[in-house]
Amino acid sequence: MDKKTEIAARLEALRADYAARLPAEIARLRELVALALVPESQAAALQELGQKLHKLAGSAGSFGFPDLGKQAKKLELQVLDWVAAGTVDTGMLRVFSVAVTALGGELQIAPATSVALPPPATPSGAVSSLIYVLEDDPDVANELCITLRHFGHQVEHFGTIAAAEGEILRRPPDFMICDVMFIDEGRETPEAIARLQHQLPASVPVIFVSSRTDFDAYHAAVRAGAVGYFVKPLDIIRLVDCFENYLDRHRSTPYRVLIIDDDLALAEHYKLVLGGADIRAEVSNSPRDIFALLNDFHPELILLDINMPVCSGIELAQVIRLNQDWLRVPITYLSSEQDEQKRALAMGRAGDDFLSKPLSDLELVTAVSVRAARSRQLSDALDRDSLTGLLKHSRIKEQVDIELSRAQRTGEALSLVMLDLDHFKQINDSYGHPAGDKVIKAIAHLLRQRLRKMDAVGRYGGEEFVAVLPRCTRAEAHLLMEDIRKRFRDLTFTVDQKIFHVTLSAGVASFEPGIERAEQLLQEADAALYRAKSEGRNRVCSLRGADVAPV
Ligand code: GH3
Ligand code: MG
Ligand code: MG
Repeated sequence: MDKKTEIAARLEALRADYAARLPAEIARLRELVALALVPESQAAALQELGQKLHKLAGSAGSFGFPDLGKQAKKLELQVLDWVAAGTVDTGMLRVFSVAVTALGGELQIAPATSVALPPPATPSGAVSSLIYVLEDDPDVANELCITLRHFGHQVEHFGTIAAAEGEILRRPPDFMICDVMFIDEGRETPEAIARLQHQLPASVPVIFVSSRTDFDAYHAAVRAGAVGYFVKPLDIIRLVDCFENYLDRHRSTPYRVLIIDDDLALAEHYKLVLGGADIRAEVSNSPRDIFALLNDFHPELILLDINMPVCSGIELAQVIRLNQDWLRVPITYLSSEQDEQKRALAMGRAGDDFLSKPLSDLELVTAVSVRAARSRQLSDALDRDSLTGLLKHSRIKEQVDIELSRAQRTGEALSLVMLDLDHFKQINDSYGHPAGDKVIKAIAHLLRQRLRKMDAVGRYGGEEFVAVLPRCTRAEAHLLMEDIRKRFRDLTFTVDQKIFHVTLSAGVASFEPGIERAEQLLQEADAALYRAKSEGRNRVCSLRGADVAPV
């Protein structure tokens, strides 16, 4: 069973479960109406009746009973009026009783609507992409292929459009880089690619390279699925930059959303619907566990029901906002509350916005995606360096702390790398500051490419970087850094037709019993880096164990 079918089946099971419980729910509502007719039990009965109708109004729509939900909402408002007035008109209550009985007639289930799933993302965690390069100039092709391979990608080169066509259909790549004009063949790639895109199961992103800068050329590129357009002479590092940015955006980890609702069945329904759109949701009906949940799950968005027993959503939002650690996580109320004043009160106390129940599956997915994306964007802007997209100094230090505590607790290996570009001042002096920036971006890309998802990498200073490698021994860290050092050394940078290369030095430190503070690890890595510099640069060193000599 594929993922979509499996989710549909599980949603169906939840709906069936809900439908099976409904007759008993409605029977209980009828009992409560009867109790409300007796003066001694009236107050308590109305209270429970209001709560039950409120819950029904919020959930019935999501489980395929939209009419029942609307009817329950009307009845709930009537009960609220009575509770507020402190008296009940017996005549009205009898009419009400008929309406409650009639709720049973609303049990006609609406046909299930399917959730529109976004196109499947590239498998997360995959660092290597399959790239096709269509280029008839062998020199340009060679340089492109070498550079992309240095960044760890799998690259296939095609010297003619005809050779590429069959292969694109047989084994569609993750990405294509295409020269526009193939003079010997007398053809242009945009037309050919546009035709192929229609025959592929999913459109393949393309970057076109051309010497044309007229509107028609750009227009043809867009029609062929262009996500980038580069004018010759080709700046390969900039092209890789464009390409990596595109992949980063589409390879991103699923959003994390925490749902707190006392109606667990409804929360489970939301979780499944969101899961179908590749959004991870955790659900809970226990406000008391909020801090443990936040710490374990690190949500990027919190969806809060308002009407919950013991601790209301509004109170819970305030509790969350009192804790400095969670100030930046947006809180969205998800509630069938329609009373404008109560909504205003909720927003005034804490919480950022409101979504009204009942909510269609598509509305839920859209509303959550938009809010989570915004939340991540803001969080990244606070945590990440704008030139490289790597973690900022303070965040990477925090990460060293977190991982060191974990290593101390679990006894697992942990390595730390401090890395610095060699003679970088000279690069700036000889080729200009913008060229220096390009080099900094290139090493950032390379680090992101070669490190695993669980690793963290930050820009520690101008041209100094720190990588935190959990479950990685000193020897493994060495091997990894050696690979990165060589790949970086072999990158070719071009500025105004001038070609240059840059090298790096790195110091490795690893967690060992006796290391208690993050500062100790950082100092050891720094000392190892200093040793790499003093021994001649372009090498990886550590203070203990055998160092690898540069090749
Ligand atoms: P060493 O091999 O000993 O590390 O020599 P170095 O020249 O790299 O050392 P130093 O730390 O003296 O110089 C670092 C240079 O990096 C100086 C600074 O202008 C440059 N730099 C720092 N941040 C940036 C940046 O964001 N962009 C550019 N282009 N240059 C930067
Ligand atoms: Mg330096
Ligand atoms: Mg430096």
